[in-house]
Amino acid sequence: ALQGAITVAEKLLAEVGAPYYFKGTEILVGASIGIAPFPASGQDVETLMNHADIAMYRSKESGRHGYQCFTQEMRLETTRQRAAEQALERALHAGEFELFYQPRVATDGQRIAALEALLRWRDNGTLKSPHSFVPLLERTGLIGEVGDWVVASVCGQIKAWREAGCDVPLVSINLSASQLRDVGLSRRLRRILDSYDIRPDTIEFEITETLLLGKDETVKRVLQELRELGCSIAIDDFGAGYCSFAYLRDYRVDVIKIDRGFISGITAGSTEALLVGGIIRLARDLSLKVVIEGVERQEEVEVLLPCDPDEFQGYLFHRPMDAAAIRKLLCFAPDPPNSDVSQNWH
Ligand code: C2E
Ligand code: MG
Ligand code: MG
Repeated sequence: ALQGAITVAEKLLAEVGAPYYFKGTEILVGASIGIAPFPASGQDVETLMNHADIAMYRSKESGRHGYQCFTQEMRLETTRQRAAEQALERALHAGEFELFYQPRVATDGQRIAALEALLRWRDNGTLKSPHSFVPLLERTGLIGEVGDWVVASVCGQIKAWREAGCDVPLVSINLSASQLRDVGLSRRLRRILDSYDIRPDTIEFEITETLLLGKDETVKRVLQELRELGCSIAIDDFGAGYCSFAYLRDYRVDVIKIDRGFISGITAGSTEALLVGGIIRLARDLSLKVVIEGVERQEEVEVLLPCDPDEFQGYLFHRPMDAAAIRKLLCFAPDPPNSDVSQNWH
């Protein structure tokens, strides 16, 4: 029976997949098929449809235009994923998300030029990194709600630091691809900023370059609206993805953050050093600010300083820390006069 279903699926795919022409334009249509054979995949219509659905989604995930046969493993995976989704939703409402902040330091002194807000999940006492849950937030669409929470939290925090007498620098916030496809984003964010009385030029949004590449008109519009609001835009992980200069032309941005991949273990005269130097010169011509991410060692600083970037961010200077630690840093660590990174960070 399964072989029969597969034969039918293949025939359907061949039929549907054949190009056809509409007013002289070639049109390609794809299909994703899920197969749930009776009785192995279920005894009744409802269960079978359900399982065929799971297989169909699996087929969509593994690339368009294909088929997948239902397996019990798929059902377990789906159940696990649903449990993880529910845990995240619960975490949001139970207040288990937290923000850490990592300082960005100006290269012309130890001045803290900005803070990057980094999401954490305090799950049963362990602090989880966003790598372990942001992709799931994105897949489930929960990232929209969590993203709004992040912005509101940052605003509340800036207010609290100010009330404690701190001089608060720019704060940067990471945005995911799916958030930028949300046409309501800038309106909601403006409302949040207004309600905390935070000027938009206090906030920078970091966007990962890979997502900009699709020439998505919605993304373009949303980014433009955020800039019109008065927030600045940074390209995160510059050079790590499908690096293309097209987006520097297509999207107006203010800052590029050069990815740690270029930096770790960099030596004078290496290809990496030449690339970073070139990127920084290009950025200068385009009037963009340059931040170097993930600086861990003094030797890296020595190689990078002659390239003249604007800011460093990395464990060598500061690790991400909670709001209380940042308050101490902002309130009790005045700038030493005329300090220079190359002399002060040994
Ligand atoms: P990112 O925006 O590129 O953030 C920098 C990451 O590098 C952070 O990891 C930071 O802790 C880490 N890092 C900083 N300095 C160093 C260093 O010297 N060495 C090394 N090895 N790592 C360093 P983190 O906090 O785990 O965040 C990972 C990613 O998760 C972020 O990468 C960002 O893309 C995403 N993310 C974080 N917070 C949010 C958020 O609120 N919303 C969204 N959508 N994504 C977020
Ligand atoms: Mg970032
Ligand atoms: Mg980054």
